[in-house]
Amino acid sequence: MARYIGPVCRLCRREGEQLFLKGERCSKPVCSVKKRVKNSAVLAPGQHGAARKKVSEYGTQLREKQKAKRIYGVLEAQFRKYYGIAERQAGITGENLLRLLELRLDNAVYRMGYGRSRTEARQVVRHNHIRVNGKKVNIPSYILKIGDVIEIKEKSKPMQRFKDILDVTDFRIVPEWLEANHENLSGTVKGFPNRDQIDIPVHETLIVELYSK
Ligand code: SF4
Repeated sequence: MARYIGPVCRLCRREGEQLFLKGERCSKPVCSVKKRVKNSAVLAPGQHGAARKKVSEYGTQLREKQKAKRIYGVLEAQFRKYYGIAERQAGITGENLLRLLELRLDNAVYRMGYGRSRTEARQVVRHNHIRVNGKKVNIPSYILKIGDVIEIKEKSKPMQRFKDILDVTDFRIVPEWLEANHENLSGTVKGFPNRDQIDIPVHETLIVELYSK
């Protein structure tokens, strides 16, 4: 599956807020969103980034969708597919959509602290370091179920890479719907995430409005 490989901080500046796409750097003063501010507003990327633009209703809805896609590292076709599934599920479509995105394997690996960013967690998955219920799974978009046990494979556990990652993530709060055992480099899906357990700055109702047009 294709993915965006351009400059990452540019995506945050486009959205005008921190999307925390880079791990450690995001909490430092070098973060582009913190640095490139004019009149209390984040400068958008590009030559005309400083120009103030009036945003239409469509534009606002589009930005919310783009933000969600960027946070989870999902491209349009796959995002649209998630929306289709969310729409068919019982319950509130916007919340179903965010739940599906949260249940992606790369996101869960990140949430459990085995990646400093979702991009790194995705790489950990792609590089065959992950076992789900004892079996190799190297598909970042793999959707987890309640009770699934995620583990760094035995051979990879002593790697310095995971020590370095845990140095940064050990103090991060793991959401209630997951359980992480950093001693054993493993974790479990305890339940499905509720909306209030998904701490991303996205108004999902605007995404639903956009796709409902
Ligand atoms: Fe976004 Fe992190 Fe880059 Fe800041 S450092 S602009 S939060 S990706």
